[in-house]
Amino acid sequence: MLPSLTPTEVERYRRQIMLPGLGETGQRQLKKTTALVTGVGGLGGTAALYLAVAGVGKLILMRGGNLQRDDLNRQILMTDDWVGQPRVFKAQETLTNLNPDIEIEAICEYVSADNIDALVQRADIALDCAFDFAERDALNAACVRWGKPMIEAAMNGMEAYLTTIVPRQTPCLTCLFPEKPEWDRWGFGVLGAVSGTLACLAALEVIKLVTGLGEPLLGQLLTMDLARAEFAKRRPYHDPQCPVCGPMPEVTRSDPVAAKMPEDQPAIVALPPLC
Ligand SMILES: [Zn+2]
Repeated sequence: MLPSLTPTEVERYRRQIMLPGLGETGQRQLKKTTALVTGVGGLGGTAALYLAVAGVGKLILMRGGNLQRDDLNRQILMTDDWVGQPRVFKAQETLTNLNPDIEIEAICEYVSADNIDALVQRADIALDCAFDFAERDALNAACVRWGKPMIEAAMNGMEAYLTTIVPRQTPCLTCLFPEKPEWDRWGFGVLGAVSGTLACLAALEVIKLVTGLGEPLLGQLLTMDLARAEFAKRRPYHDPQCPVCGPMPEVTRSDPVAAKMPEDQPAIVALPPLC
């Protein structure tokens, strides 16, 4: 049973309800959705912003640590006077001011094997915007365990990667990156316009998957070289021996998710580093 929309919500979301393929039913589906966003920084914070204004009914924001001044070139939910304080609570305040009709829960913790299962179970969908592979792997494993879709968004300098993972129907993150590339724990160069571009596309994947609007990146990896404005779609390889998602059950093209998965993109042989 989908929740109904209040007159204020109908007014707030009028311009997107007009979109063919979204409509009032899509808006009510968004209202019913709980999305977990891990890593509320330049990527996760901006994705959360677009989910909030689109009317996703509940956001669970997860990010440990305090705001640093060098976060401010990309973390657009933050303000200069918040430096030194926990980022996730400022993100909650900013988003609540933008859209008081939705519920926002803020958790000042990093993702770990100890805390992630309970959160994934409470969510309908997760966005993986975490800083490092330990957090990304923990979220991927929990989403596979509980059968929850996960939007995987990652960047490295001017390059960005995006895919939508549906457990047992598409390759998982471990299939994509069985060996973890080298990365610099002190961070890499990043422009806010790059993390923001990827964040908008990640938020759009959530909206598409929830409402049925358009075609999500199921079983497809979108690679972006934003220095050259070059975009490509690849078909990730599903590893039947994957220690996380294992053998894929037979799916038929009549399956609603499988039917949207293209068969004609080249398979990926090797991927560039991802952080
Ligand atoms: Zn896998």
